[in-house]
Amino acid sequence: MKPAPFIRHVPKTLDEALRILAEVAPQDGRILAGGQSLVPIMAFRLAKPAHLVDINEVVGLDKISSDGKALSIGARVRHAAFHKPVVANPLGLLLSVVARHIAHYPIRMRGTFCGSLAHADPASEWCLVAATLDATLIAKSTRGERRIAAEDFFAGIMSTALAEDELLVEARLPLLPDDTKFGFNEFSRRAGDFAMSAALVTYRLQNDKITDARVGIGGAEASPRRIAEAEAALNGEVPGDKTFRAAAEVAAKAIEPLEDHQTNAEYRRDLVRAVVRRALEQSA
Ligand SMILES: Cc1cc2nc3c(=O)[nH]c(=O)nc-3n(C[C@H](O)[C@H](O)[C@H](O)COP(=O)(O)OP(=O)(O)OC[C@H]3O[C@@H](n4cnc5c(N)ncnc54)[C@H](O)[C@@H]3O)c2cc1C
Repeated sequence: MKPAPFIRHVPKTLDEALRILAEVAPQDGRILAGGQSLVPIMAFRLAKPAHLVDINEVVGLDKISSDGKALSIGARVRHAAFHKPVVANPLGLLLSVVARHIAHYPIRMRGTFCGSLAHADPASEWCLVAATLDATLIAKSTRGERRIAAEDFFAGIMSTALAEDELLVEARLPLLPDDTKFGFNEFSRRAGDFAMSAALVTYRLQNDKITDARVGIGGAEASPRRIAEAEAALNGEVPGDKTFRAAAEVAAKAIEPLEDHQTNAEYRRDLVRAVVRRALEQSA
Protein backbone atom coordinates (compact mmCIF):
# COMPACT_ATOMS: atom_id res chain seq x y z
CA MET A 1 0.00 0.00 0.00
CA LYS A 2 0.97 3.61 -0.39
CA PRO A 3 0.93 5.99 2.59
CA ALA A 4 -1.98 8.37 3.10
CA PRO A 5 -1.30 11.87 1.73
CA PHE A 6 1.00 14.09 3.81
CA ILE A 7 2.89 17.38 3.55
CA ARG A 8 6.67 17.11 3.87
CA HIS A 9 8.55 20.01 5.45
CA VAL A 10 12.33 20.21 4.96
CA PRO A 11 13.80 22.68 7.48
CA LYS A 12 17.49 23.60 7.22
CA THR A 13 18.04 24.80 10.79
CA LEU A 14 17.08 23.50 14.19
CA ASP A 15 15.09 26.64 15.02
CA GLU A 16 13.11 26.25 11.80
CA ALA A 17 12.48 22.56 12.53
CA LEU A 18 11.25 23.32 16.06
CA ARG A 19 9.01 26.13 14.82
CA ILE A 20 7.40 23.93 12.17
CA LEU A 21 7.05 21.04 14.63
CA ALA A 22 5.30 23.32 17.15
CA GLU A 23 2.86 24.29 14.39
CA VAL A 24 2.11 20.86 12.92
CA ALA A 25 2.43 18.54 15.94
CA PRO A 26 -1.17 19.23 17.08
CA GLN A 27 -2.32 18.28 13.53
CA ASP A 28 -0.63 14.86 13.78
CA GLY A 29 2.73 16.11 12.55
CA ARG A 30 5.73 13.82 13.04
CA ILE A 31 9.47 13.97 12.69
CA LEU A 32 11.00 11.96 9.85
CA ALA A 33 14.57 10.85 10.62
CA GLY A 34 15.85 7.66 8.92
CA GLY A 35 12.29 6.59 8.08
CA GLN A 36 13.12 2.93 8.74
CA SER A 37 10.29 2.53 11.26
CA LEU A 38 7.95 5.38 10.35
CA VAL A 39 7.77 4.80 6.58
CA PRO A 40 6.82 1.08 6.84
CA ILE A 41 4.04 1.83 9.33
CA MET A 42 2.82 4.65 7.06
CA ALA A 43 2.83 2.27 4.10
CA PHE A 44 0.63 -0.11 6.12
CA ARG A 45 -1.48 2.91 7.10
CA LEU A 46 -0.95 2.13 10.78
CA ALA A 47 0.19 5.78 10.98
CA LYS A 48 -1.28 8.55 8.84
CA PRO A 49 0.59 11.72 9.82
CA ALA A 50 -0.70 14.77 7.94
CA HIS A 51 2.73 16.46 8.16
CA LEU A 52 6.29 15.14 8.22
CA VAL A 53 9.10 17.34 9.51
CA ASP A 54 12.07 15.84 7.68
CA ILE A 55 15.21 16.59 9.73
CA ASN A 56 17.66 15.09 7.22
CA GLU A 57 18.88 18.52 6.04
CA VAL A 58 19.03 20.23 9.43
CA VAL A 59 22.61 21.40 9.91
CA GLY A 60 24.51 20.40 13.05
CA LEU A 61 22.49 17.32 13.99
CA ASP A 62 24.86 14.82 12.34
CA LYS A 63 27.68 15.17 14.89
CA ILE A 64 29.25 12.65 17.25
CA SER A 65 31.53 14.28 19.81
CA SER A 66 33.10 13.63 23.18
CA ASP A 67 33.97 16.11 25.93
CA GLY A 68 35.99 13.51 27.85
CA LYS A 69 33.05 12.59 30.07
CA ALA A 70 30.27 11.66 27.66
CA LEU A 71 29.68 10.80 24.02
CA SER A 72 27.12 13.08 22.34
CA ILE A 73 25.16 11.57 19.46
CA GLY A 74 23.15 13.99 17.29
CA ALA A 75 19.68 13.29 15.93
CA ARG A 76 20.91 12.57 12.38
CA VAL A 77 23.65 10.07 13.33
CA ARG A 78 22.93 6.76 11.56
CA HIS A 79 23.35 3.29 13.04
CA ALA A 80 26.16 2.64 10.53
CA ALA A 81 28.28 5.40 12.09
CA PHE A 82 29.04 2.90 14.86
CA HIS A 83 30.28 0.06 12.66
CA LYS A 84 33.77 1.12 13.77
CA PRO A 85 34.52 2.50 17.27
CA VAL A 86 33.72 6.22 17.31
CA VAL A 87 35.76 6.99 20.43
CA ALA A 88 38.96 5.57 21.98
CA ASN A 89 37.16 4.30 25.06
CA PRO A 90 35.52 0.93 25.84
CA LEU A 91 32.22 2.62 24.93
CA GLY A 92 33.39 2.88 21.28
CA LEU A 93 33.97 -0.86 21.05
CA LEU A 94 30.74 -1.64 22.93
CA LEU A 95 28.69 0.43 20.45
CA SER A 96 30.34 -1.23 17.44
CA VAL A 97 29.65 -4.72 18.84
CA VAL A 98 25.99 -3.82 19.43
CA ALA A 99 25.48 -1.96 16.09
CA ARG A 100 26.08 -5.13 14.06
CA HIS A 101 22.97 -6.70 15.61
CA ILE A 102 20.60 -3.96 14.38
CA ALA A 103 18.53 -5.02 11.39
CA HIS A 104 20.44 -5.29 8.07
CA TYR A 105 23.15 -3.18 6.44
CA PRO A 106 20.85 -0.97 4.26
CA ILE A 107 18.64 -0.19 7.26
CA ARG A 108 21.70 0.70 9.34
CA MET A 109 22.75 3.18 6.61
CA ARG A 110 19.52 5.20 7.05
CA GLY A 111 18.12 4.54 10.53
CA THR A 112 19.29 6.86 13.32
CA PHE A 113 20.38 6.30 16.91
CA CYS A 114 18.00 8.97 18.23
CA GLY A 115 15.16 7.75 15.97
CA SER A 116 15.46 4.35 17.61
CA LEU A 117 15.20 5.92 21.06
CA ALA A 118 12.19 8.04 20.04
CA HIS A 119 10.49 5.02 18.46
CA ALA A 120 11.10 3.02 21.69
CA ASP A 121 10.61 -0.49 20.39
CA PRO A 122 11.08 -2.70 23.49
CA ALA A 123 13.63 -4.78 21.54
CA SER A 124 15.70 -1.89 20.18
CA GLU A 125 19.39 -2.40 20.84
CA TRP A 126 20.08 1.34 21.22
CA CYS A 127 17.25 1.66 23.78
CA LEU A 128 18.92 -1.15 25.74
CA VAL A 129 22.28 0.63 25.56
CA ALA A 130 20.70 3.92 26.71
CA ALA A 131 18.91 2.25 29.63
CA THR A 132 21.89 0.15 30.76
CA LEU A 133 24.41 3.00 30.63
CA ASP A 134 22.05 5.63 32.10
CA ALA A 135 22.08 7.91 29.06
CA THR A 136 20.82 11.48 29.19
CA LEU A 137 18.43 12.47 26.41
CA ILE A 138 18.26 16.09 25.31
CA ALA A 139 14.84 17.19 24.01
CA LYS A 140 14.19 20.61 22.47
CA SER A 141 11.06 22.48 21.49
CA THR A 142 10.14 26.15 20.99
CA ARG A 143 9.38 26.07 24.75
CA GLY A 144 13.00 25.27 25.67
CA GLU A 145 15.29 22.33 26.47
CA ARG A 146 14.79 19.31 28.74
CA ARG A 147 17.35 16.76 29.90
CA ILE A 148 15.69 13.42 30.51
CA ALA A 149 17.35 10.48 32.27
CA ALA A 150 16.96 7.23 30.34
CA GLU A 151 15.04 5.62 33.21
CA ASP A 152 12.42 8.38 32.94
CA PHE A 153 12.44 8.45 29.13
CA PHE A 154 11.09 4.99 28.25
CA ALA A 155 7.41 4.83 29.15
CA GLY A 156 6.30 1.48 27.72
CA ILE A 157 5.93 -0.15 24.32
CA MET A 158 6.74 2.54 21.71
CA SER A 159 6.08 5.23 24.24
CA THR A 160 8.45 7.86 25.64
CA ALA A 161 8.48 10.97 27.81
CA LEU A 162 8.82 13.19 24.69
CA ALA A 163 5.99 15.67 24.16
CA GLU A 164 4.52 15.87 20.65
CA ASP A 165 6.36 19.11 19.89
CA GLU A 166 9.75 17.93 21.21
CA LEU A 167 12.67 16.88 19.05
CA LEU A 168 15.23 14.53 20.55
CA VAL A 169 18.28 16.50 19.44
CA GLU A 170 20.97 14.49 21.16
CA ALA A 171 21.67 11.40 23.24
CA ARG A 172 24.53 11.51 25.74
CA LEU A 173 26.20 8.29 26.84
CA PRO A 174 28.72 8.41 29.69
CA LEU A 175 32.23 7.26 28.72
CA LEU A 176 33.24 4.07 30.51
CA PRO A 177 36.28 3.61 32.78
CA ASP A 178 39.21 2.18 30.75
CA ASP A 179 39.13 -1.17 32.59
CA THR A 180 35.41 -1.77 31.93
CA LYS A 181 34.48 -5.25 30.79
CA PHE A 182 31.33 -5.72 28.76
CA GLY A 183 29.29 -8.36 26.97
CA PHE A 184 26.24 -8.27 24.73
CA ASN A 185 24.00 -11.09 23.58
CA GLU A 186 20.63 -11.27 21.91
CA PHE A 187 18.34 -13.99 20.61
CA SER A 188 16.26 -13.66 17.47
CA ARG A 189 14.97 -16.44 15.26
CA ARG A 190 16.41 -14.98 12.02
CA ALA A 191 19.46 -12.76 11.53
CA GLY A 192 18.39 -9.10 11.41
CA ASP A 193 15.07 -9.64 13.18
CA PHE A 194 14.22 -7.75 16.35
CA ALA A 195 15.56 -9.58 19.41
CA MET A 196 13.16 -11.64 21.47
CA SER A 197 15.48 -10.93 24.39
CA ALA A 198 18.81 -9.14 24.69
CA ALA A 199 21.27 -8.47 27.50
CA LEU A 200 24.03 -5.91 27.92
CA VAL A 201 26.37 -6.22 30.90
CA THR A 202 29.27 -4.08 32.07
CA TYR A 203 31.42 -4.24 35.20
CA ARG A 204 34.92 -3.63 36.55
CA LEU A 205 37.19 -5.76 38.69
CA GLN A 206 38.65 -4.76 42.05
CA ASN A 207 40.90 -7.34 43.74
CA ASP A 208 39.59 -9.87 41.20
CA LYS A 209 35.99 -9.24 42.30
CA ILE A 210 33.19 -7.67 40.30
CA THR A 211 32.28 -4.07 41.05
CA ASP A 212 29.98 -1.47 39.43
CA ALA A 213 27.94 -4.18 37.66
CA ARG A 214 25.26 -3.15 35.20
CA VAL A 215 22.85 -5.68 33.79
CA GLY A 216 20.38 -4.38 31.20
CA ILE A 217 17.62 -6.42 29.60
CA GLY A 218 15.74 -5.54 26.40
CA GLY A 219 13.03 -7.23 24.39
CA ALA A 220 11.61 -9.08 27.37
CA GLU A 221 9.56 -6.33 29.04
CA ALA A 222 7.69 -3.27 27.75
CA SER A 223 10.84 -1.15 28.09
CA PRO A 224 14.51 -2.01 28.52
CA ARG A 225 15.88 -1.50 32.01
CA ARG A 226 18.64 -2.31 34.47
CA ILE A 227 17.95 -5.31 36.67
CA ALA A 228 19.14 -4.29 40.15
CA GLU A 229 18.74 -7.80 41.57
CA ALA A 230 21.12 -9.28 38.98
CA GLU A 231 23.62 -6.47 39.53
CA ALA A 232 23.57 -7.18 43.29
CA ALA A 233 24.18 -10.88 42.55
CA LEU A 234 27.36 -9.95 40.63
CA ASN A 235 28.89 -7.21 42.79
CA GLY A 236 31.54 -8.57 45.16
CA GLU A 237 31.72 -11.95 43.43
CA VAL A 238 34.56 -13.55 41.47
CA PRO A 239 33.67 -13.76 37.77
CA GLY A 240 33.11 -17.31 36.56
CA ASP A 241 30.53 -19.84 35.52
CA LYS A 242 28.90 -20.17 38.97
CA THR A 243 28.56 -16.41 39.46
CA PHE A 244 27.29 -15.87 35.92
CA ARG A 245 24.67 -18.62 36.14
CA ALA A 246 23.47 -17.30 39.51
CA ALA A 247 23.08 -13.74 38.16
CA ALA A 248 21.29 -15.02 35.04
CA GLU A 249 18.87 -16.96 37.23
CA VAL A 250 18.15 -13.87 39.32
CA ALA A 251 17.54 -11.79 36.15
CA ALA A 252 15.15 -14.40 34.74
CA LYS A 253 13.13 -14.31 37.98
CA ALA A 254 13.15 -10.50 38.25
CA ILE A 255 11.54 -9.65 34.91
CA GLU A 256 7.86 -9.25 34.12
CA PRO A 257 7.91 -10.96 30.73
CA LEU A 258 5.97 -9.81 27.68
CA GLU A 259 3.81 -12.52 26.16
CA ASP A 260 2.76 -12.69 22.50
CA HIS A 261 1.67 -15.21 19.88
CA GLN A 262 5.23 -16.60 19.71
CA THR A 263 6.24 -16.68 23.35
CA ASN A 264 4.81 -17.24 26.78
CA ALA A 265 6.28 -15.88 30.00
CA GLU A 266 8.19 -19.05 30.81
CA TYR A 267 9.90 -19.08 27.40
CA ARG A 268 10.93 -15.44 27.71
CA ARG A 269 12.37 -16.08 31.18
CA ASP A 270 14.39 -18.90 29.63
CA LEU A 271 15.65 -16.53 26.96
CA VAL A 272 16.62 -13.92 29.54
CA ARG A 273 18.49 -16.57 31.54
CA ALA A 274 20.39 -17.54 28.37
CA VAL A 275 21.21 -14.06 27.05
CA VAL A 276 22.44 -12.80 30.46
CA ARG A 277 24.68 -15.83 30.94
CA ARG A 278 26.07 -15.54 27.40
CA ALA A 279 26.68 -11.78 27.72
CA LEU A 280 28.54 -12.42 30.99
CA GLU A 281 30.58 -15.21 29.40
CA GLN A 282 31.49 -12.87 26.55
CA SER A 283 32.57 -10.20 29.04
CA ALA A 284 35.06 -12.57 30.61
C1 LIG B 1 13.26 -4.93 8.42
C2 LIG B 1 13.62 -4.07 9.60
C3 LIG B 1 14.32 -4.64 10.65
C4 LIG B 1 14.66 -3.86 11.75
N1 LIG B 1 15.35 -4.44 12.77
C5 LIG B 1 15.71 -3.69 13.83
C6 LIG B 1 16.47 -4.25 14.90
O1 LIG B 1 16.84 -5.43 14.88
N2 LIG B 1 16.76 -3.44 15.95
C7 LIG B 1 16.37 -2.12 15.99
O2 LIG B 1 16.67 -1.44 16.98
N3 LIG B 1 15.70 -1.56 14.99
C8 LIG B 1 15.36 -2.30 13.91
N4 LIG B 1 14.65 -1.71 12.90
C9 LIG B 1 14.23 -0.29 13.03
C10 LIG B 1 15.36 0.68 12.66
O3 LIG B 1 16.44 0.54 13.54
C11 LIG B 1 14.91 2.15 12.67
O4 LIG B 1 15.95 2.83 12.06
C12 LIG B 1 14.66 2.78 14.02
O5 LIG B 1 13.67 2.08 14.77
C13 LIG B 1 14.08 4.20 13.90
O6 LIG B 1 15.02 5.11 13.46
P1 LIG B 1 14.74 6.04 12.23
O7 LIG B 1 15.80 7.07 12.22
O8 LIG B 1 14.60 5.20 11.00
O9 LIG B 1 13.35 6.75 12.65
P2 LIG B 1 12.02 7.07 11.81
O10 LIG B 1 11.49 5.84 11.19
O11 LIG B 1 12.26 8.24 10.94
O12 LIG B 1 11.07 7.54 13.02
C14 LIG B 1 10.58 6.61 13.98
C15 LIG B 1 9.72 7.36 14.99
O13 LIG B 1 10.52 8.16 15.83
C16 LIG B 1 10.20 9.56 15.67
N5 LIG B 1 11.49 10.26 15.64
C17 LIG B 1 12.55 9.98 14.87
N6 LIG B 1 13.58 10.75 15.19
C18 LIG B 1 13.16 11.56 16.18
C19 LIG B 1 13.79 12.58 16.96
N7 LIG B 1 15.06 12.94 16.77
N8 LIG B 1 13.07 13.19 17.93
C20 LIG B 1 11.76 12.84 18.16
N9 LIG B 1 11.13 11.88 17.46
C21 LIG B 1 11.81 11.25 16.48
C22 LIG B 1 9.41 9.64 14.37
O14 LIG B 1 8.52 10.73 14.35
C23 LIG B 1 8.71 8.31 14.35
O15 LIG B 1 7.55 8.35 15.17
C24 LIG B 1 14.30 -2.46 11.78
C25 LIG B 1 13.62 -1.88 10.71
C26 LIG B 1 13.27 -2.68 9.63
C27 LIG B 1 12.54 -2.04 8.47
